[in-house]
Amino acid sequence: MKKVYLDNAATTRVRDEVISAMLPYFTEYYGNPSSLHLFAREAAKGLDAARAQVAAALNATPQEIVFTGGGSEGDNMVLRGIARAYQKQGAHIITSAVEHHAVLHTLEALEKEQGLSVTYLPVDEYGRVSAAQVEQAIRPDTILVSIMFANNEVGTIMPVEEIGRVCRAHKVLFHTDAVQAVGHVPIDVEAMHIDLLSLSAHKFHGPKGVGALYVRKGVRLPALITGGGQERKKRAGTENVPGIVGMGVAIELAVAELAENTKAMCALRDRLISGMEARIPEIKLNGHRSQRLPNNVNFSIRYIEGESILLMLDLNGIAASSGSACTSGSLDPSHVLLAMGLTHEVAHGSLRLTLSRYTTPEEIDYVLEILPPIIEKLRAMSPLYQGGQN
Ligand SMILES: *Cc1c(COP(=O)(O)O)cnc(C)c1O
Repeated sequence: MKKVYLDNAATTRVRDEVISAMLPYFTEYYGNPSSLHLFAREAAKGLDAARAQVAAALNATPQEIVFTGGGSEGDNMVLRGIARAYQKQGAHIITSAVEHHAVLHTLEALEKEQGLSVTYLPVDEYGRVSAAQVEQAIRPDTILVSIMFANNEVGTIMPVEEIGRVCRAHKVLFHTDAVQAVGHVPIDVEAMHIDLLSLSAHKFHGPKGVGALYVRKGVRLPALITGGGQERKKRAGTENVPGIVGMGVAIELAVAELAENTKAMCALRDRLISGMEARIPEIKLNGHRSQRLPNNVNFSIRYIEGESILLMLDLNGIAASSGSACTSGSLDPSHVLLAMGLTHEVAHGSLRLTLSRYTTPEEIDYVLEILPPIIEKLRAMSPLYQGGQN
């Protein structure tokens, strides 16, 4: 059976070059980078190189990069850390209704536990907030704006540079969860006035369980994980050296190939979008047509459940997702689609297909061949659907 992986927003295949770069750090340079010997020095050199690679990818300096255990940890570290370090300045944070749960659930916890005040900005029909909305929400006690770079479900890219400009003008710190954007969209923390940025290696063909946080020089950010003095006392624990080395190589390659990959991926994405629109009646593209990640396709397919489409696709070797991986398994419709104004019924019938550099035109054509009859069959069984009979 064919195997087609179109769930790259959930995680990606690790690149061969990344694996090769990691291997010696398991078997040869396995010293603890904090120790004082040859094995340790080699490991520490690996960390230094990766720090420089991550910094270069963002137009940051190596001193501004903190290695983390992934995107969720980075988001937690920023939200919990800024709330604590800046509590004298205020206790108000601005975010959007469509953030990843790593941001939303953390802020909800801070509201309950520490009396933090949070503004959840509504989004437009494409899933965007505007810089004007952010500006209107800023109060004298606002300490942080946290708006994602690009949405993991519908692929919508936020006006990050404009939001950054507003935050800078009002002297409010700006964090962006860029987990979906890194390697897909050019990022420049200086030009975009970003003060804090979280990223995660496994979303750009690096290993899982490792990420990085950009922390602008001068921003006070206490450790979330305390213990030893690693990462300039910002993140205790022996470093995941092979993982970090792999992330460095993955981000360098992703950024070097960005322009070329974007072109190829947008072409495949648009082939899938127009192919589905031509072959399947009563479907609606979720998210923005142009302000969209090159690898994201998300449709609402009326009258049927996303989960039943997934099961049928899986039987044909196609890996996809409905909404986000975190919400699948529960019957709640996606908070992102609801925030964009979709009804519960329509939000339930959503299908997300996310591409990668490994996706081929043949795979897209296979999906376009398999998917329409699946949807026809499911609709024929749906009590909500009258189209076939009338
Ligand atoms: C995947 C993802 C995260 C979580 O990253 P992990 O490394 O899996 O913890 C956070 N935010 C966004 C937008 C994501 O897509």
